[in-house]
Amino acid sequence: MILPEQMIIGPLTVNTLWLFIGSGVLFYFFIIWYEARKDGFDADRMFDLTFITVIISAVFLNVINSWYQRLEVLSYDSPFLKMDRFYFAMGLSLMANIGVFVILAKKWKWSIYRVLDDFALGLNFLLLFVSAGMLIIFGDYRQIVVIFLLLLLYSRLLRFRGYRFPSGVVFSAFVYFISLLTLIFRPSGYLLFFFLLVTIGTLNLYFRRKRSMSKNLLPLDFLNLIKDKLTLKDKQLKKQQELLKNEDAYLQEGRTEGNSEIIDEAILEDSQKEITDAKMSAVKTMRIQVRRAMAFLRLGKYGICEVCGKPIDKARLEFYPEATRCIDCAEK
Ligand SMILES: [Zn+2]
Repeated sequence: MILPEQMIIGPLTVNTLWLFIGSGVLFYFFIIWYEARKDGFDADRMFDLTFITVIISAVFLNVINSWYQRLEVLSYDSPFLKMDRFYFAMGLSLMANIGVFVILAKKWKWSIYRVLDDFALGLNFLLLFVSAGMLIIFGDYRQIVVIFLLLLLYSRLLRFRGYRFPSGVVFSAFVYFISLLTLIFRPSGYLLFFFLLVTIGTLNLYFRRKRSMSKNLLPLDFLNLIKDKLTLKDKQLKKQQELLKNEDAYLQEGRTEGNSEIIDEAILEDSQKEITDAKMSAVKTMRIQVRRAMAFLRLGKYGICEVCGKPIDKARLEFYPEATRCIDCAEK
């Protein structure tokens, strides 16, 4: 193929695939750190967490590799239990990593679902590097399909995590996607790995949903009050929009009639027009937000932060009923 399996770099003989994996891990670090910072996580902690995942995975890969022969259960010759040691190690380290995430997210008061979403994004890129390596080194053309699907997953789903899709959804989708790939490629013991992934993805969705439902404890009379407030606000904004439109039309009309022959007057009108335009776009943005909150109300999602999924403070909703984000997420 294009690249040899072993490469000699100075005094070292390096397994070429490891070069790809190493670059993938670096990219994995970068993506998670970059995206986490964008999402408002403490970047140092996120870096530590990423480091822990790499250590855990490396330890599991190492231990399983040396203990594989001795694990009785794996020596049965059944397609269900006889697991490829790589998948076995990956499955175990995935569970160990999620355990660490759950503990630390609780300690740091982070949304576990958002953390998992971020890591799904990082893993997506790590897998891209590994796939590209397998394609280039071993000429494994099936990897073209994998690369295509990973890119598709990123562009259609992963990058909209927490925005177009509620937090947690992206991680589950990613896990389902990987389980589908195992079914297609069928390594030994794929069934166990497949079921493990499907279980993780489903549990994630289940707990996410359960939490959203249990946290929405806003009383009905409060919601009715909010509905009235929003309806009134929408009406007021609509009125303001109409007034501004009239003002604008008046300015435009003056312009076409050419009544501003004096330069000073023209400048004055120009700045007036700018102010009107700015006001119009501000009112428009406010009205969109009010309508969004009304849609959330209709869908029964009102009062839950659209970014992190945590309940929004009631005092905030009273003061600012069109809020669809909690104070922490809104400040970012
Ligand atoms: Zn939030």
